[in-house]
Amino acid sequence: MNQPKPAHKVLFKGATLLDLESGKESPADLLIVDGVIAELGKLDIPSFDGELIDASGTVVVPGLMDMHVHLREPGREDEETVESGCRAAMAGGFTAICPMPNTEPPADKREVLDFLRDRARGQLVELFPIAAVSKGRKGEEIAEMGELVDAGAVAFSDDGDPVHNAAVMRRALEYAKMFGRPVIDHCEERSLTAGGAMNEGFVSTNLGLPGMPAVAEEIIVARDLALAKYTGGRLHVAHVSTAGSVELIRRARAEGVQVTCEVTPHHLILTDQAVVGFDTNTKMNPPLRTAADVEALRAGLRDGTIQVIASDHAPHAVEEKDVEYAAAPFGIIGLETSLALVLRELVGRQVLTLAQALRAMSAGPRQVLGLEQLKVEKGARANLTFIDPHAEWVVDTSRLESKCRNTPFAGWKLRGRVFALVNRGLYWRAVR
Ligand SMILES: [Zn+2]
Ligand SMILES: [Zn+2]
Repeated sequence: MNQPKPAHKVLFKGATLLDLESGKESPADLLIVDGVIAELGKLDIPSFDGELIDASGTVVVPGLMDMHVHLREPGREDEETVESGCRAAMAGGFTAICPMPNTEPPADKREVLDFLRDRARGQLVELFPIAAVSKGRKGEEIAEMGELVDAGAVAFSDDGDPVHNAAVMRRALEYAKMFGRPVIDHCEERSLTAGGAMNEGFVSTNLGLPGMPAVAEEIIVARDLALAKYTGGRLHVAHVSTAGSVELIRRARAEGVQVTCEVTPHHLILTDQAVVGFDTNTKMNPPLRTAADVEALRAGLRDGTIQVIASDHAPHAVEEKDVEYAAAPFGIIGLETSLALVLRELVGRQVLTLAQALRAMSAGPRQVLGLEQLKVEKGARANLTFIDPHAEWVVDTSRLESKCRNTPFAGWKLRGRVFALVNRGLYWRAVR
């Protein structure tokens, strides 16, 4: 993959600027000088002496952010590192990612966050770490949240595991509230999912695989909503996957509970029917659900109950996934396919408008995490994703930037791809 270059003086000619709030499109040339949007609009620069990029046919929006990814550094650098994760993020069109803290050691101390941020220094992709809720991610004692916020934590989560103890979750919501940060929970009642490999229902019965029922997710969603209401804390539900969860969250929001949530592209597109054939790349947690759940998730995005699309990028080595279904680890990679899947399956099929879809991948996560919204205007720091909405490509796992290959979308023909990125004084032009 080619490297980002300093954005000293770069002119993107002929792009279409898409306003994510209004959905309005306007033709735009963008002149970037030292990482700042120096000029924007219809520009006539007769003898331009900088880097000129023909961006006609592309759409430009505030830089995309994936707020739920797993990098395996520290601990499993053979599966992903900060560097390979940042490359995968660029290839997927993201200028920012939030790594989850289930590393070895976990991100429950300042030193680990300092290390991660240090590893991301000089990258075009910004890293906003999510710190562990509990010390050692054991679910017993709350981590030193103040220290972790100082070290750059934008949220708290024990993802990979639920915060099982309700009293710990209550304290987490109370403490995180003092710092204005959300607690992100992986909602799963483990006593109901123990030994489970896929969604519990008609398909699991047919396949003879142990199931994970929807109610296992919904019990913890309901518990967390009650705790968020009681404490006034901010809850963010990770990877919502069931119609029941969406309805619980919708009602709680209507009551004024401080709750937001996210959904993954795979839960928006695939059902548990994909498990037929026993491809372990269809094994994730939460599992793929039913067509009715997919419909409810799409409706939740449309009506604003769900604010964010996040990939839950979870790399696993080939040899780990290459075992029988029940024994395989949960999780798939997603950074490089997320945008194109959303463009083809949701925008292309008129489930969402382009602005709605990209809002859930840009403004949405920033709002959830309390980060400043990006502006595409003269004088603003340039943090931009240029998308070629018509580029057709096939997911070829031998050409992914991630160190891992575990995707159920291998061989899929997709439409829409990143064209260029600008961030942190750098720009990168996708060359393929
Ligand atoms: Zn999770
Ligand atoms: Zn996760």
